[in-house]
Amino acid sequence: MRKTYQYKLLLTTAQRREIDRWLNMLRAQYNHLLRERFDWWEYNRSYLVVPQGDCCLRWCELGSGELKDNPDWHSQSASLPGLKQTRPWYKDIYSQVLQDCVKRVKLAFERFITGDFKGNRSGRPRFKNRARYRTLTYPTVSDKNLMGSKIKLPKLGVLKFIKSREIAPGSKLKTASVTRKADGYYLSLSVEDKTVPEVELNMTLTESNTTRVDVGLEKLYVDSNNNRALPQKYLRKSESKLAKLQRKLEDNTRSKKAKRLIQRAIARLHQKIARQRKHWHYVEAHKLTTSCQVLAIEKLSIRNMKRRNKPKKVNGVFVPNGQASSSGMNKSWSDNGVANFLEILSQVAQKYGTRIVKINPKGTSQHCSRCLNRVTKTLSDRWHSCDSCGLSIDRDYNSALLIKKLAVGSRQDKKLPSLKDLLS
Ligand SMILES: [Zn+2]
Repeated sequence: MRKTYQYKLLLTTAQRREIDRWLNMLRAQYNHLLRERFDWWEYNRSYLVVPQGDCCLRWCELGSGELKDNPDWHSQSASLPGLKQTRPWYKDIYSQVLQDCVKRVKLAFERFITGDFKGNRSGRPRFKNRARYRTLTYPTVSDKNLMGSKIKLPKLGVLKFIKSREIAPGSKLKTASVTRKADGYYLSLSVEDKTVPEVELNMTLTESNTTRVDVGLEKLYVDSNNNRALPQKYLRKSESKLAKLQRKLEDNTRSKKAKRLIQRAIARLHQKIARQRKHWHYVEAHKLTTSCQVLAIEKLSIRNMKRRNKPKKVNGVFVPNGQASSSGMNKSWSDNGVANFLEILSQVAQKYGTRIVKINPKGTSQHCSRCLNRVTKTLSDRWHSCDSCGLSIDRDYNSALLIKKLAVGSRQDKKLPSLKDLLS
């Protein structure tokens, strides 16, 4: 399993300057290569032309003139020696770090055009300013580069760092990255850890080895043993402080230097909030994964949940569409960080050999977990009380129990049943 360790770097002023200089050069190169890709793409495509009155005939015009070669990873990497000839200062950068920049362009552009391995497409890649290009990567380093709390990186020299935790014994160092953050520079070491237990794939889910988890807004999660994590609301807690700093920043009587200091304070505060949330997520994820062998989680699309409401028009006039309350809810979703929590949960689960299965949640909030009777609720009804069997429990706890019922008895490598199968 691939793991990443992050350490704070203790750099000299000269090293800091050199890293900043490298980042600036890499950023310029990144933007240049991205421009090259966009140019080709814009030049070689055209909008579909459908003549009026004829729905069958369609044609598409390419840009006039000579066709250029599509810039790909190979051609862009091959352009690097030429770059070093025309701009000799690029020779100062370690060659593999420069090549990694080409790879970043490739990945960003491919995610935009064809999507990732799941077919999810990202937005149009941005040209990066100083604040957005913050990492340089050494794609191949080995354990030899590491000497206690120092790392030797080609052309950057020996960098000291605070070894706040030991790397798991038996793991192999693969890549090293240096990142500039709001409060200094960090070293990320990616290692291959062979000691992680293999996950058993064909285990049958039983009452005792399965825990069902219901993630949400009101609580981070509720499991089928009725353990829950209440939201910590780190953003909401720092909101007034943040607003105060934002107001200060908008005050135009301040000098440029003063504004920069305020900007830095804002960045530090955001960093603090993110770290608090991340720490909390890890603590909760450890609690969950160590308590069982299989975690059954509902399939969620948080992206769809956070989508903006459609504008509502009555007689040509825009009327309130409920976006104001949705915005508040979206903020709470983000503050809870459910998507991040699920990601961290799957990471931690992998580490302990805990299996995660995803279940279709359709209808599980509207049925009773004991008698399967339909009990309709709106989003604001937080309590489940069933008239036919008399079950009266928390709504989320009820759906946690119900989904566990769905999962138990099925083999986890097979397709898991949905509520529809259980009802029929
Ligand atoms: Zn019931």
